[in-house]
Amino acid sequence: MFCCSRLTRLGERMVSMNSTLVETVSINYEDFNESFLTCGTCLCMYDGQEHTPKLLQCSHTVCLHCLTRIAASQTRDTGSFRCPICRELITIPRGGVSALPPSFLVNQLLDLMSRQRRELDSSTDCRSWFNNVIHDLLYTH
Ligand SMILES: [Zn+2]
Ligand SMILES: [Zn+2]
Repeated sequence: MFCCSRLTRLGERMVSMNSTLVETVSINYEDFNESFLTCGTCLCMYDGQEHTPKLLQCSHTVCLHCLTRIAASQTRDTGSFRCPICRELITIPRGGVSALPPSFLVNQLLDLMSRQRRELDSSTDCRSWFNNVIHDLLYTH
């Protein structure tokens, strides 16, 4: 036999844990999204493809899409272009803008965010599982 009151207490603790988690995730998500994960030049979210975050020598991060565009219009014979954020002169490495190092910070944040989204999904599953258990307890006895 199930002990109903014990299971309910456990459930309450789970629900309150979940709401804390959701709150934390949504705050972080907004912060990350606006401050770190959006290219300041084209206002697109960074990703692993066209908008790959690239770290410039001035430590600013700009997406590959913007760098390609800027480099095409600025470099000519100089092999360098100006950072769209601070105007510092950036030397293009041999191999072009795509050879610039990726921004590890942004990649880590993207990674963290997708992990948190997965956690959010699994906590939703957990909550619906819990609701089902409660439903069974309440309506099948
Ligand atoms: Zn961009
Ligand atoms: Zn810069």
